[in-house]
Amino acid sequence: MLKLLLSSVLIVLSFSVPAQTTTAKRSPVNAPERPKLVVGIVVDQMRWDYLYRYYDRYAANGGFKRMLGQGFTCENTFIPYTPTYTACGHTCVYTGSVPAIHGITGNSWWDNRKLASVYCTEDKSVKTVGSTTRAGEMSPLNMLVTNICDELRLATNFRSKVIGIAIKDRGAILPAGHSANAAYWYDSKTGNWITSTWYMNELPKWVQDFNARKLPDTYYAKGWSTLYPINTYVQSTSDKKDYEGKRFGSDQPGFPYDLNKYVGKDYGMINSTPWGNTMTVELAKAAVTNEQLGADNITDFLAVSFSSPDYIGHNFGPNSIEAEDNYLRLDKDLADLFTFLDNKVGKGQYLVFLTADHAVAHVPGFMEENKLPGRILNDGFKKEVKQLLKDKFGSDQLISSFANNQVHLNHPLIDSLRIDVKALKQWLVKYLEKQPGITRVFTFDELMTIPLPEKIRSMVANGYFPSRCGDIQLILEPGWMEGGKTGTTHGSWNPHDSHIPLVFYGWNVKPGKTNRETYMTDIAPTVAAMLRIQMPSGSVGAVIEEVAK
Ligand SMILES: [Zn+2]
Repeated sequence: MLKLLLSSVLIVLSFSVPAQTTTAKRSPVNAPERPKLVVGIVVDQMRWDYLYRYYDRYAANGGFKRMLGQGFTCENTFIPYTPTYTACGHTCVYTGSVPAIHGITGNSWWDNRKLASVYCTEDKSVKTVGSTTRAGEMSPLNMLVTNICDELRLATNFRSKVIGIAIKDRGAILPAGHSANAAYWYDSKTGNWITSTWYMNELPKWVQDFNARKLPDTYYAKGWSTLYPINTYVQSTSDKKDYEGKRFGSDQPGFPYDLNKYVGKDYGMINSTPWGNTMTVELAKAAVTNEQLGADNITDFLAVSFSSPDYIGHNFGPNSIEAEDNYLRLDKDLADLFTFLDNKVGKGQYLVFLTADHAVAHVPGFMEENKLPGRILNDGFKKEVKQLLKDKFGSDQLISSFANNQVHLNHPLIDSLRIDVKALKQWLVKYLEKQPGITRVFTFDELMTIPLPEKIRSMVANGYFPSRCGDIQLILEPGWMEGGKTGTTHGSWNPHDSHIPLVFYGWNVKPGKTNRETYMTDIAPTVAAMLRIQMPSGSVGAVIEEVAK
């Protein structure tokens, strides 16, 4: 009886509450209200702490201070899976989903069905549009769910326009979704912005015109010197460090970088300079103008990803003057984009979110220099283990791949040799556990039963898509990584790789902040709630109430 009473109270409540709110202030004619344009910004490799590490150096009228001052910032936003790589991050931001569901388990992965390495956006069934190289044989086909841009298209019967833009193909394609009008990415061989026949058969005139401007050559002629006098970069190490990569040649170990030698030649070098961001903003502005994004009341979506911070970060590291200068210049590029949108779409008429696909660890050489934990993993064991497997189990071909910190076993061969796979796995776990810098090794069979901090367990489980993942997972000690003597990388569960910025700004966003833990997976459902559209098909995130109300 009590149960019955309670449930009828609940029914009354659930009917009466929405009825009150819907009558409160919805306009009867134009409901649901939506912004004219949504601008999703992903800064490739941006650590959360860059918002504050350089805060004093950002311009008063710059992009970051505008967003932090007038927008809503979620200060503890985490990536809820491993590996924390670019393709997974862009997909997660826009799908609200995790690799275990959307299938993008790395930038590349070993595919257990195809028995081959697969690149996240490769698609041999489409052709390059805009150049003669194969850089355009790409599509979102491997992403197995809809994303927020697809849902916006569905919600408006495909009247919304969606365009994705990034230097990296995966940074443009995965955010733009399956049903996008276009995704444009940069062909480093030709210096052209290109697309694929997934979207169209010919570049629009305005993109052809943009390519004809040969902006990379203009930027190369300007070179890269610091925005402010170099002695004011007190948040960074001195300029020339042995653990920094020499991206622009061994003859140029530091600022200022003369890029004249690349004019008309190496179009990929622009990626590793802040000019890559400037060029991306220029194309984004051209897209808004020429495709009339945000020009009418049907919401459009511009998905922009800045790839250059990742190239710069990998090479020079988070404590370099190059990284600091990149963010000071990106601040100006963002300000330029926002001012343009104010004039073109109208202040308050567009909704922006800014986040990152992953963050990054400090350079191991920098950590060693400062007596901090974090070193380069000696990966000699990958060769050694093959020989040991031959001696013990009869073949040196029993491992197919070490992709994404996982060991993929060669199951067809193991079956044909009638090897006891359980014994093989146990032996491998024991062997790998002994390697310096590897803190945990376990098979996916035992993931849910071994003693492991819940955070790590759930992040690994969220990254596990069986046909695109291995048999054994390696967890490195914090700050440890594979790689050479210079530069740094990301991919781990640790906060240095998984703590990302998340700031909302513009249409219907009130200034504020939360320190509550939020997740990358919350972004898409929050945008869906604000736009009153369906969340994407693999979404597991929660609406960030503080932003959406
Ligand atoms: Zn990266």
